[in-house]
Amino acid sequence: MTANATRVLVLNSGSSSLKYQLLDMGDARSDHDSGARRLAVGLVERIGEATSRLAHTPLGTGGATRETAGPIADHQAALKAVAEELAADGLGLDSPELAAIGHRVVHGGLKFTVPTVIDEAVLKEIERLVPVAPLHNPANIIGIRTARALRPDLPQVAVFDTAFHTTMPESAARYAIDVATADAHRIRRYGFHGTSHAYVSRRTAQLLGKAPEEVNVIVLHLGNGASASAVRGGRCVDTSMGLTPLEGLVMGTRSGDIDAAVTFHLKRVAGMSADEIDELLNKKSGLIGLCGDNDMREIRRRIDEGDERAALAFDIYVHRLKKYIGAYTAVLGKVDAVAFTAGVGENAAPVRAAAIAGLEELGMAVDASLNAVRSDEPRLISPEYARVAVAVVPTDEELEIAQQTYALVTA
Ligand code: ADP
Repeated sequence: MTANATRVLVLNSGSSSLKYQLLDMGDARSDHDSGARRLAVGLVERIGEATSRLAHTPLGTGGATRETAGPIADHQAALKAVAEELAADGLGLDSPELAAIGHRVVHGGLKFTVPTVIDEAVLKEIERLVPVAPLHNPANIIGIRTARALRPDLPQVAVFDTAFHTTMPESAARYAIDVATADAHRIRRYGFHGTSHAYVSRRTAQLLGKAPEEVNVIVLHLGNGASASAVRGGRCVDTSMGLTPLEGLVMGTRSGDIDAAVTFHLKRVAGMSADEIDELLNKKSGLIGLCGDNDMREIRRRIDEGDERAALAFDIYVHRLKKYIGAYTAVLGKVDAVAFTAGVGENAAPVRAAAIAGLEELGMAVDASLNAVRSDEPRLISPEYARVAVAVVPTDEELEIAQQTYALVTA
């Protein structure tokens, strides 16, 4: 790696999509605390279909978004198309300034507790985890193989969604089921969204003017998928997602916590197959199952028009959220901050207000006028007198992946 290699390409491969960002990690012109500056961002959608689409925005030059439509057969073709877009801005993947590629990998099991430079053995291990992450790891593996074929000489780093949660004690990570069965099938609570929980908990400490080691934070990552975590002194001690992202909070399309016996009941009484139940609980439940919409903006609009189904869906969503805030307050003993993040957490003031309402005994309150402010910056929304800070902290998983990748390859 050359001395002026300061760029990191972050790749997030889904089954039919490829999201990417190119960041310069040592840019003096950075407007970011971390010294990082985003040079380009983009997305390839509907890979493998006739209607694929690539949207590329060269942020470094302030250029407009360029969209290309037309069939992109597979991830290899997608990454080639991305490389061409980057090259057109003078940011080609063959540039000596590119230090590494950082890959988001959803499931790292128990083996990967830190970001890891990828070699064949690491790839094999990520493949071995496919049975516990059948929807995510295969796409991540394709992304890694494609990028390695394109730049075999370049360090490539896997940053795992599960890694931040590997500090959970056994008391939080184990399900109370037969130990031999659990161990034989690697059934335990892994947790997800770890990159976001890590970033937001650290950023929250910074907002309070403290070191991460000095504070206990409850992070509420509320996107279409949603999870809560309890972070003590910078280390995760509990999180709401489990073996898979299905457990925990009510989400856009997932049920979150449910009596496992519901699944036997659906099989025995409704004659549903495992795949049908999987689809019901992961894709047709949560907000969309309750009211037909999974977008919080639409749900709020319907509530304003007096729609009762939307109101009930909102109440169920908030009730679960409140239960987790209470539970994690008990787990942590002392809470310094509650941080809301991701699409709903960053934007939906009514969700934040409703989740914290009535928690004055726990030292938590929301100031209505602070909560109404719209901003992309981390900010406090609790009144001066509140014992616990309530914050809105925009997440930045790509920056976190880039930082972890860059730190590893320059260490
Ligand atoms: P993902 O889990 O797909 O990464 P995001 O974190 O982008 O999701 O969150 C997407 C969700 O955020 C949407 O489904 C919507 O419910 C919610 N959302 C986005 N913008 C707003 C807004 N302005 N007000 C309320 N909710 C919003």
